[in-house]
This record gives sequence, structure tokens and C-alpha cells, in this order.
Amino acid sequence: MNVLVIEDERNLADAIVHILEGDSYHAEAFYDGRSGLRAALSGTYDAIVLDVMLPGMDGTELVHELRRQGIAVPVLMLTARTSTDDKVRGLDAGADDYMTKPFEAPELLARLRALTRRRGDVMLDEITFADVTLDLTTHDLACADSSVHLSGKEFEVMRILMGSSARVVSKQDLLARVWGDTDASENSVEAYISFLRKKLAHIGSGVQITTLRMLGYRLEVFGE
Ligand code: CA
Repeated sequence: MNVLVIEDERNLADAIVHILEGDSYHAEAFYDGRSGLRAALSGTYDAIVLDVMLPGMDGTELVHELRRQGIAVPVLMLTARTSTDDKVRGLDAGADDYMTKPFEAPELLARLRALTRRRGDVMLDEITFADVTLDLTTHDLACADSSVHLSGKEFEVMRILMGSSARVVSKQDLLARVWGDTDASENSVEAYISFLRKKLAHIGSGVQITTLRMLGYRLEVFGE
């Protein structure tokens, strides 16, 4: 999962990137409002951590502009102030949540998890990749006239793979996001990948889950 960090205090921005990468996110920092907005508009991020007070264009204006252009990526605003006005303005402009500085790493990670989960649950009914569609309500995976029901963990793994398009998702990332703090091992991930491969074949899809040694998994389309 890709996170964009927009924060002009470089030490803090770099610390946030470090915290996120330690939790198997991919993160990138920009240090002013305008370059942050350009990056955000490229649309390749799954979440944005955005400071309110920024040179160039402040965080409130930035999130307002993103929403105006139809970019629905979840935004977590950072504010140094405890002023209610600031929070209300941020939320009104289209931010999804805010956090007051200073904060601890676990709080940042918990809020990001909640935001990215909420996005998949409420904003979309289904996601599609090549010839397959995953229904986010019924958990059915369909290709043309065939469909198959996915179990809870199969669904979570497939949703992450499809949501990453053709990008590689690491085994550790899947383990952290689907199994959380349990004692599950990478063998569990491998087992579920194998279940999903069988189900994709069963519905006659040309989509395959490719293993990239040492890197992870990626969806690819065959037979076209
Ligand atoms: Ca700032």
C-alpha cells in the first residue's frame, strides 16, 4: 500500500516515512503544498498523511482541491493545534480524520488502518481486474457467467491483490493486513494464495496470481 506524506518539517516527514515503511507500507514524502498536490493528483496513493500548516498551499486547501477533482483517497490530517476550528475546517474540506501532533507511531498506524479499511468497505460495491469482479458485499468472485464464493481470508487477500492492480504485494504485507497480530505465518499466506488460484481457474478466468521470488505476488492476465 502506497502512502503519500505531505509535511514541511523534514524531520517529522522522514520519521513518518520510516514508521510506515517499518509497517510494510511504501511511503513517499513531499515537503510543500504544491509538490504534494501534484503527487496526490497522480492518483497512485492509497492514503495521504497531510499536515495543515504548509508553505505554498495549506493542507485544507489541498484536500479541498483533491476532492474537487474527484480524488477520493483517504486523507489523515495532522494539526499542531488543538483548535477545534482547524479540525472542523479540515473535515469540512474533505479530510477523513485528523490527528494532533505530537503523536505516537502506534496511533498513526491504527488510524491509517482504519481509514484504508473504511474506504474499501463503504465507497465501492465491487472491484474489477481484467475479466474478474469481486463483489465487496457478497464476497463472490465472478468471471463471465461463473462465480465462486470466497471465505473471509480469501476475500481479504483477493481484495488487496485486486486493489493493487498489477503492483507486487509482499507476503509480509498480506500477513500484516489480513492476519494482523495473530501467530499466523507466511505458510498461511501461501495456503490462501493456492486456494485463490484454484478458484480463479474454476471460474475460467485468465487472471493468475504470479509469485515473484523474494518479492511477493502480483495479478497477471494470461490467454489474451
Ligand atoms: Ca507544518
